[in-house]
This record gives sequence, C-alpha cells and structure tokens, in this order.
Amino acid sequence: MGKTLFDKIWDAHVVQAIPDGPTQLYIDRLYCHEVTTPQAFDTLRDKKVGVRCPERIYAMPDHNTPSDNQERIDDPVGRKQVETLKANCREFGITHFEMGSKDNGIIHVVGPEKALSLPGMTIVCGDSHTSTHGAVGAIAMGIGTSEVAQVLASQCILQSKPKTMRINIEGKLAPCVTAKDVALYIMARMTTSGATGYAVEYAGQVIRDMSMEGRLTLSNLSIEMGSRAGLIAPDETTFAYLKGREYAPKGADWDMAVASWRELHTDDDAVFDKEVTYYADDIAPRITYGTNPGAGIAVDGTIPTYDGMSDMERVQLKTQLDYMQFEPGQKLEGTPVDWCFLGACTNGRIEDFRAFASVVKGHKKADNVTAWLVPGSWLVRKQIIDEGIDKVLADAGFELRLPSCSACLAMNPDKVPAGKLSISTSNRNFVGRQGPGARTVLASPLTVAASAITGVITDPRKFMK
Ligand code: SF4
Repeated sequence: MGKTLFDKIWDAHVVQAIPDGPTQLYIDRLYCHEVTTPQAFDTLRDKKVGVRCPERIYAMPDHNTPSDNQERIDDPVGRKQVETLKANCREFGITHFEMGSKDNGIIHVVGPEKALSLPGMTIVCGDSHTSTHGAVGAIAMGIGTSEVAQVLASQCILQSKPKTMRINIEGKLAPCVTAKDVALYIMARMTTSGATGYAVEYAGQVIRDMSMEGRLTLSNLSIEMGSRAGLIAPDETTFAYLKGREYAPKGADWDMAVASWRELHTDDDAVFDKEVTYYADDIAPRITYGTNPGAGIAVDGTIPTYDGMSDMERVQLKTQLDYMQFEPGQKLEGTPVDWCFLGACTNGRIEDFRAFASVVKGHKKADNVTAWLVPGSWLVRKQIIDEGIDKVLADAGFELRLPSCSACLAMNPDKVPAGKLSISTSNRNFVGRQGPGARTVLASPLTVAASAITGVITDPRKFMK
C-alpha cells in the first residue's frame, strides 16, 4: 500500500520506534523564541549537557517586541525574556536574530521566507502555530518546554505518531475569498477539536491554486482545529517561492533538492484514517462571532439562534455571546469596530499587505477606528516599502508599524483596551487574547481593510475592483 506524505516524512526521520511507546524522531530544525525557552536552557545547565546541533537551531524574539519602538522594552518581564534568549544563544552557540535586526520577525514568518523551513523536514518550536511551516511540505509541530530541552540536547524528540486526515477543498474560490476564509470555514465545519489527534494534509484544486502565502495562512490555522500538523505537498508553487531565498540550497544542490522534493506527495493508493471534502462554492468571506476560531459565519450571515440546541450548546453559545456583546440571530455586518489589526503569523506576509492596500487605496481610514498594521518580519516591511505599499497606506491614513507579534496577544504594548471590538487577521479570538476584556472578531486582510475604511464590519466584496 502507498504512503501518505506525512508517513513518508515521518518514516524518514525515525531513529527508533519503541515497542508500545513513542517514536524517537530526528528533528531537522528547531526554532526558539523568548517565551518558551528559558527553562529549556536551564535544564541543559542543570544536567550539564550541551546543545547537540546548534547549526540546526535558529532563535529570535517576537512575542515581546514592541511595534512602535524597538530601542527598548519597558516591561521588565518581557525585557528579561528577550535578554535571556540572547544570552542563552551566545552561551550555546545558536544563531540569534536580534530584535530590530533585518533578520528578525515572527518565527513563523521568518522561517519560510528565509527558506530555513524546507520540504521534507521535521520542524519543531515551543509554539503552537509551528504548524505554519507544514505549508512547505514539512512535518511541523508545536512542542512543550521540556520537549524543547530534549531537542536542544539530542536533536531528537519522543513523539506518538498521530493519525492522518486529508482535507480536500475542490473548485475555484470566488473573488475576495482568501485562504483565511477557507481556514475559518473549515474550522466552523469541523469545530475546534475536529482534527484532534490527527496530522492533516490539505489537498484539492483550491490548494493547488493557492499562493505560498495563502498556504502558510491555512497551515497556521491547523492547530486551531486541534490538528498536530498541517501539511501541503510541495509543488512548483513551493519551489518558486523557495528558490533563491537566503538559506535555500544553491546551484546543483538546488536541483538535487527539488528532484527529491518531487517525491514528497501522497501516493495514489495511500489510505488516510479520515478524509473529508469541502467545496469552494460554499465558502464566502468569513467573520467570527464567538470566543473560539470555529465560531464563525459568512460576513453577511447571521449568528446562530438557540433553536434546536441542547442545553449544553445553548450555555456555550450564550457565554460566548455575552462576552462578545452580541445577540443570537444578529447580523454582524454593519457593527461598529474600534480596532483593526493586520498582522500576526497568520496574515503578516507581503501578500496580506498587498491585499489590504488594494482595498484601502483611494479611501480614508474611518475616524472611529484605531488601526495597527504590523509586518510579520523586517523583510516583509522592506518589501512593503520597496513596492510603495507604505505610501498607499499613508495616503489612506494608516501607519506602518515595526515587525512583532503585536496585538495577536497581549504580551507587548499593543493591547486592545477592555470592551473595545477589534477586527483582526490573527488566529485566536479567545477571551482577553488581544488585551484584558478586549473583544475580537477574526477575518481576512480584505475584510479587515474594508472594515477599517467604513468603521463597521464590512463585506469586502463591496469594495471589489
Ligand atoms: S503572531 Fe500570535 S500566534 Fe503567531 S507566534 Fe506570535 S503570538 Fe503566536
């Protein structure tokens, strides 16, 4: 029987399979950020062991970095974490992309754009959205701090093999329907636990047609439906994206690498533990209404009512709507927004800024809206400036900020105030995620842009050019 893409990569990295136990898996790439690694490095010191393969590890601060001024971090806890990462990298000989340097940015943006994440790799990081890197055709998983210590010390990890699921998305996406909308649609259909215990492979015409940036957005959100990983088979789109990037193989090595990457696909006769198919015709621009990414509707739809719900479902929905200050059956389109956020490892790439600019060009930001436009890396910021997108944004009344996780989570100065409604391109709308008491609706860059102009939740199709 043939193998799935996941099985091919997994099997190529097995060091030993422990009978009735986990597998010892070789790890090609470990990424470290400042929040989840201090204890892991302390473990090495406690046990008096070094780092096994420092050349396979890259580190950068992203969660605590301010998006307005990176000369300093005022918060003492955040400053300590960033300084500790730098000191640990110096002590253990690990490449460190310092805050404010041209190499810095959100790990899940920087890894693929520098071609540090390549097809066929096993990639881990102490961060749940490591699933992002699966878009290049890799097994990429978020891990815990003790597992980070394992990889630092041995370049291996003990893992139980997940089941496999293929999600096919067939047809052609309509204009203004983006990868973010596809991800929010899948989550609404599958729920936020629908892929728990599985590694997902995305396939179908929609994926084949999708840009690399779109694929990274889709894989990024895999974790929000409980999936261990979200892979996409590498193809010409992948190779074109990676070719010539800083750490990509060069010359004859590139040709050899591409030849081997072409084998990285699921065989025709491979069988998945689960397989589902969705259709592009059913997917419209999306918006969330609740406090998990699966609680979403079409942007011109209405919030579900309690009709036909069990007592448990009714309580769950009521709890979410009470926090969000929404009502069952409410239409969200036209609801005033206070904050707009473009950025995060979900939608902080150049294509996202091009999309946002395409909508706001020739318009003005609404007076009632505070907008934070935060590139996912310094390279993205440079591209924005090189392409003149910053001028389009400035003409429309928007300020371009400095690369950071920013308002994706309330760990740096970019916090949405309590009670304010934020429409955000990030990946989590949990209670207080963007600031204590802040309310978040998730959407695509196009929907956020349209809403930033009108000051209310707006269907981007109304601005279709
Ligand atoms: S942008 Fe948000 S989800 Fe992504 S790594 Fe930063 S905090 Fe995590």
